[in-house]
Amino acid sequence: MSQVVGRFAPSPSGRMHLGNLLCCLLAWLSARSAGGRVVLRIEDLDAMRCPRAYADLLEQDLTWLGLDWDEGGSKGGPHRPYYQSERSDIYNTYYQRLVKLGVVYPCFCSRGQLHAASAPHRSDGQVVYPGACRDLTAQQAAQAARRRPPAWRLRLPDSLTLSFIDGHMGPVTQDLAADCGDFVLRRADGVFAYQLAVVVDDALMGVTQVVRGGDLLSSTPRQLWLYRLLDLPAPEFYHLPLLLAPDGRRLSKRDGDQSLEHLQSRYSPQQIIGRLAYAAGLQSAPDPACPADLLPGFSWDKVPRQDIRLPEGLF
Ligand SMILES: [Zn+2]
Repeated sequence: MSQVVGRFAPSPSGRMHLGNLLCCLLAWLSARSAGGRVVLRIEDLDAMRCPRAYADLLEQDLTWLGLDWDEGGSKGGPHRPYYQSERSDIYNTYYQRLVKLGVVYPCFCSRGQLHAASAPHRSDGQVVYPGACRDLTAQQAAQAARRRPPAWRLRLPDSLTLSFIDGHMGPVTQDLAADCGDFVLRRADGVFAYQLAVVVDDALMGVTQVVRGGDLLSSTPRQLWLYRLLDLPAPEFYHLPLLLAPDGRRLSKRDGDQSLEHLQSRYSPQQIIGRLAYAAGLQSAPDPACPADLLPGFSWDKVPRQDIRLPEGLF
């Protein structure tokens, strides 16, 4: 069996918070417990929102917590660059393959048009693209392009149901055509969409195991379709339950007290890892632990599939 390659793929739009931390901890445990390697890829596609200083802080934070990686980030490695903001040429190569397949078309819909009240919504709250620009003639497209630059969408077959087995959540099936619709590959400002970038990156970087937040579960079928179209090997997926505040709210970067900046002033790295491991079912008590202490007993079976509500007073 080939070696497991896991990854940290944080988006440095701010300091890490408990949700990111749990994701990195589980990605690390899952790869390391199988004797695998870990790649660090900085997901700063939206370079304006992700200054390099945050990426550097992120590396410091991971190191402080005892979560090491083998290649990537400022450390470099054979698959560099590891910053998505520097990989547009690579994404373009694969994007052009899709263009050659004849499955890419321009979409001139404004945000307002897409979010019209009548538009059906996906399970993740996004709008199902109704296909308004699917069949524009070349002349119509040229005319529309004079008014606004288009986004570029992937044309899906009229009926497309994808199924896969998530390593943690179990079987997942999605009717991609009905639940999502043709999705954006390249934004009107030229930036490649996350869906394309993540597929190209994970494949080229040899990632075999993707551990990430459950909020990305519903985008996995889109990515699987891209793997198939581009003839790239798809990794295994492990989606985590959401980490909720004690009152049941979703944790977000706006919760300042959950950011690592705040946590570092109150806790040692072992206290943070130990408490997080306790909340995620990996320890029976919130005792201090470093990531390596958790390796011998690690099993995905211990991690809940339901949302995890942080116990009151744990952090
Ligand atoms: Zn459109």
